[in-house]
Amino acid sequence: LVRLRARLSKSANPLGKALLTILSKSHLTEGDWEDVEDTLLLADVGAETSAHLVEQLKSDVRVQGEADHAAVREMLRNRLLAIVDAGMDRTLFAERAEMQRSDAPKPSVIIMVGVNGTGKTTTAGKLARLFVAEGKSVMMAAADTFRAAAADQLETWGNRVGVSVIRSDQDGADPASVAFEAAHEAQDKNVDVLVVDTAGRLQNKANLMQELGKIRRVVEKTAKVDEVLLVLDATTGQNGMAQAKVFAEAIGITGIVLTKLDGSAKGGIVISVQQELGVPVKLVGLGEGPDDLTVFDPPAFVEGILA
Ligand code: GDP
Repeated sequence: LVRLRARLSKSANPLGKALLTILSKSHLTEGDWEDVEDTLLLADVGAETSAHLVEQLKSDVRVQGEADHAAVREMLRNRLLAIVDAGMDRTLFAERAEMQRSDAPKPSVIIMVGVNGTGKTTTAGKLARLFVAEGKSVMMAAADTFRAAAADQLETWGNRVGVSVIRSDQDGADPASVAFEAAHEAQDKNVDVLVVDTAGRLQNKANLMQELGKIRRVVEKTAKVDEVLLVLDATTGQNGMAQAKVFAEAIGITGIVLTKLDGSAKGGIVISVQQELGVPVKLVGLGEGPDDLTVFDPPAFVEGILA
């Protein structure tokens, strides 16, 4: 948590500082409010959420009248936190109480989806490591059979974090059958969590969505899909938002992983993505190493913005 705060402020996020500077003026003109909105848009907060936030802040300022810097900071903090937190449940299924019971159905299946290059495979590896660290048995499946390199990369992660990887020997094998076999094997071996990595070629959107749907259906023949995590690259901003909508409509997602937040001076997508999709950000990626994945913590995130 402390690390998250430190790293987020290190990313030199200009958003908080700029907002505070404008809002601390003694008399706010219409032009100032436009600056507030532009600042939010530039930080990738998204039009809908930016407009919403401006309206809320305007009404706060009306109620509050002239306020000192600390009071303005508090007002901004509360408004941002209300949006970023939104009372959403961020626990991963595998973490919830029912998993702790010995008679809980196994495995708990997590399907990772997202466009190539967003950090899906890396996140699958980091996630496996998180579960291993909690004493859970974990398996991964390479259901991106289109590129052999993708399965190799997942295997490298498997070796790194001590988790076995189910893959196909042939290029172009049916991704759903790899996922099916993995679910079977995970069940046979009484594995707690199965993480399924999938393909993310958006060139043929319809095919990809069909493929993901099939993976899900096939896994559900033997096991239960508890989470579908959408991996989004925080540095792609509103482009990521468009991708998110495609995946959300096609297969339904239970949570978002925002990667590369370490390399983003923007990060505003965190603020709008939940509001616009109604799906919580559950995890954030803060680097390329195996330990650079953290549970998303809204207060720490907002403090990071306002640091
Ligand atoms: P995939 O194609 O979606 O599976 O993406 P990869 O897992 O191959 O990741 C693409 C690149 O992003 C790799 O170089 C990763 O090391 C890098 N990457 C993934 N997550 C993060 C992150 O949280 N921070 C940073 N800085 N790089 C990341």
